[in-house]
Amino acid sequence: MKYVLVTGGVVSGLGKGVTASSIGVVLKACGLRVTSIKIDPYLNTDAGTMSPFEHGEVFVLDDGGEVDLDLGNYERFLDLRLTRDNNITTGKIYQSVLEKERKGDYLGKTVQVVPHITDAIKDWIESVSAIPVDGKEGPADVCVIELGGTVGDIESMPFIEALRQLFFSVGPDNFCLIHVSLVPVLGVVGEQKTKPTQHSVRELRALGLTPHFLACRSAQPLLENTKQKLSQFCHVPGANILNIHDVPNIWHVPLLLRNQNAHEAILKQLALLRVAGPPNLQEWTTRAETFDNLTNSVKIAMVGKYVGLTDSYLSVVKALLHACIACSLKPSIEWIAASDLEDESAKLTPEAHSKAWETLRGSACVLVPGGFGDRGVTGMILAAKYARENKIPYLGICLGMQISVIEISRSILGWKGANSTEFDEDAPNPVVIFMPEGSRTHMGNTMRLGSRRTLLQTADCITAKLYHNPEYVDERHRHRYEVNPKVVGELEQSGLRFVGRDESGERMEILELSNHPFYVGVQFHPEYKSRPGRPSALFLGLVLAATGQLEAYVKSHQNGSI
Ligand code: GLN
Repeated sequence: MKYVLVTGGVVSGLGKGVTASSIGVVLKACGLRVTSIKIDPYLNTDAGTMSPFEHGEVFVLDDGGEVDLDLGNYERFLDLRLTRDNNITTGKIYQSVLEKERKGDYLGKTVQVVPHITDAIKDWIESVSAIPVDGKEGPADVCVIELGGTVGDIESMPFIEALRQLFFSVGPDNFCLIHVSLVPVLGVVGEQKTKPTQHSVRELRALGLTPHFLACRSAQPLLENTKQKLSQFCHVPGANILNIHDVPNIWHVPLLLRNQNAHEAILKQLALLRVAGPPNLQEWTTRAETFDNLTNSVKIAMVGKYVGLTDSYLSVVKALLHACIACSLKPSIEWIAASDLEDESAKLTPEAHSKAWETLRGSACVLVPGGFGDRGVTGMILAAKYARENKIPYLGICLGMQISVIEISRSILGWKGANSTEFDEDAPNPVVIFMPEGSRTHMGNTMRLGSRRTLLQTADCITAKLYHNPEYVDERHRHRYEVNPKVVGELEQSGLRFVGRDESGERMEILELSNHPFYVGVQFHPEYKSRPGRPSALFLGLVLAATGQLEAYVKSHQNGSI
């Protein structure tokens, strides 16, 4: 196994994840098989308990792992199916060491950060990098490891030490260290400043790691003398100073690296020059350039709770992007804080209220994404009602599907007390209820997580046509509540069709509304499996419906061709 370690210096938020996945893309384009590991030095065991407000979305894997959103980047860029173990956290490492300690595995010894924690990190990296994640058999050729945080952080120290030891044990031909840093331009003089990078390289070297490459983030391309300075002071050959300056969209980053011959230098470092071929990035080039030249856009109203930080819905945003590009459109996402749509807000913040409604009315379609807790639920219900009554294309994801069920129960069936027991435990009409897969009494670990099969009940539904599969769909889940099976019969009489159910037939997975151009609710999260060049079926359906192209699309794909 060959390792490419990507570290970050100076400041966080440099786009280390995009840089690391782009390096993976370039290596993959040279014919190598690539896997990836993301290290998050925080103490949480996984991202499942972290707030999207603070940390961005929680990404969900096939195996139900709730992981850092960077793993989504790796899956999308490299077209992988990662496992929960591909995300290492301090919490996971300490947990495994402490479990061993309790079992008596270290009997008689003092358990310490070095060597016990560092050994656990090395073992974890070595065993996880060998898991095939690209659908082929056997381990990949290269494992890209991204170390979260900034070099010098107290919490990343054990990882740095473990990686130093790993480097030493696998040898220089099998290890390549790329340090992502910032080259800012200061003041009136406009000079590109190398000092922050020099300092962070010095910090890294003090910890025993010398970078083979620098990947410098800058607004404008690096000047020749800036490169020379960096090379001289940071002890990195000029050819290994890569520059990732600002680009119109992130798909340009692999192209930028290729244009600087980064692949050749990395392959040389890893002694892989003879096995790899020249990079084929045709598809990436077309996609990056097509996107830059798109002129028409489609307005999509995103009615959610966490609209302040767009990373909270990162995969939804990416899935919309993939779908829009497939339709030669630029997505124009109109963020609407669900609570602004509520009557209450008309009194308290009238301006925000009227602006929210104006934005909703000006959009070509409505998307209500997943979420937890009752904030904004009333506003989401209003948005779903608006879309249903005005025949505006609607996609409800997870919470968004539950919202549809509450709305239709209240408006059509006249059940004023219809609600989810998540928001009102004693709801007179509990139309969405807690339905754990395991124990009903045990509260911990009760989320339904990861890939589950949904059986389509009929081929005559828009979902089957969009997925080009009349039988089933496999998508990832992350929820606790579900449509109450007891009210399904009555809901179906109101025009709702539960066209997708789980294998037991008890869990409603997909709903569609008759006599509506596109009204779909799904209990799963289709956004996690969307890929550039392979958009998620329902997102594509939403965008096609928003632009009046759905019928033509379905007709032209009737014979099963994609
Ligand atoms: N809060 C809802 C549930 O737990 C929806 C979850 C979601 O949208 N991911 O079922």
